[in-house]
Amino acid sequence: MPRRTSEKARPLSRLGEFGLIRQVRSLCPKAHPRVRLGIGDDTAILRPSPNDLLLTTDLLIESRHFDFRFVSPYQVGAKAILVNASDIAAMGGIPETVVASLAVSPSTPVSRVNALYRGIVEACRSINADLVGGDTSASPGPMFLNIAMTGSSPVGRSVRRSGGKAGDQIYVTGTLGDSRIGLRLLRSTHGTCRRADASFLIQRHLCPTPRIAEGLLLARSGSASAMIDVSDGLASDLRHLCAESGTGACIDVFRLPISRSLSSWCCETGRDPFSEALLGGEDYELLFAVPPHRVRRIEGWIEDGRLDATRIGSLTASRSGLSLVNSRGSRRPMRERGFRHF
Ligand code: ADP
Ligand code: MG
Repeated sequence: MPRRTSEKARPLSRLGEFGLIRQVRSLCPKAHPRVRLGIGDDTAILRPSPNDLLLTTDLLIESRHFDFRFVSPYQVGAKAILVNASDIAAMGGIPETVVASLAVSPSTPVSRVNALYRGIVEACRSINADLVGGDTSASPGPMFLNIAMTGSSPVGRSVRRSGGKAGDQIYVTGTLGDSRIGLRLLRSTHGTCRRADASFLIQRHLCPTPRIAEGLLLARSGSASAMIDVSDGLASDLRHLCAESGTGACIDVFRLPISRSLSSWCCETGRDPFSEALLGGEDYELLFAVPPHRVRRIEGWIEDGRLDATRIGSLTASRSGLSLVNSRGSRRPMRERGFRHF
């Protein structure tokens, strides 16, 4: 007698490519009017706006960027959208449309793929973007998920990595290092941390908050000379900003913003929170430079709660390289490098 596969375990090969596309399409809510045609035809049709168009993409590979032992398919889908949105935020733009391409083994349960797309669609909704297309393929092994996202920013107002000058002050939004420890906690079998702290740190790893409002405020007001999002760790991303701007930088390590949860985890484990903050990847905070004549405005916004950011150092002449200053005022070259893909 043929065995009936339960709905939950039904493999994707039974649903087929077009069944999958139909399901994805049915998950999508009514799109913004700029989307004249979404999923279903040879291409999407978008109404161009008079703004600058931003375009970015990110490739996520199972076992390399995510591991289903520690994250749910829903979380993978949502995070893939949020990290692309962080790139758009780092230009000072707002996200608009998304295409999602998926390569997956035909034996993958339909329920897993559905959960992944629920994550994608709900994260899109949270940032007011629309899923308008994608591509689907069988993978001989791990899952590949590629997201491409468009966004817009007022003409000529996007903030590049390259505009920093010696003397500009360096700021970062939010707190650093949480995601790095969140990932460590997810992977460790025994807890070394208070429940509430652990869940905060893990949440920071699984569900980053793209700093869209902050990026927009900085771009619209012309307050930032250079900006980048912190995805590979402050040490690494500061290097990119400085290389593009042709500057050095000096970071006051003791000023790095540390969350209460990271601080208490570090107390319990005897780690140094500032080196976690310096090395930590996947923070998805904004690192930006502010010219001296804009500093008062930024400090005012920080004081009145409009901008959640901290001043952590300044850009210097290129020949002085990157250096760190501790609370006693002693300076050393920054050797830390953060995450490297190869
Ligand atoms: P083509 O053969 O031209 O690539 P497809 O049959 O792959 O067309 O796609 C049909 C429609 O479904 C297109 O609108 C495409 O953008 C959309 N689509 C295909 N795969 C996905 C996916 N994984 N996620 C979202 N939309 C998809
Ligand atoms: Mg296709």
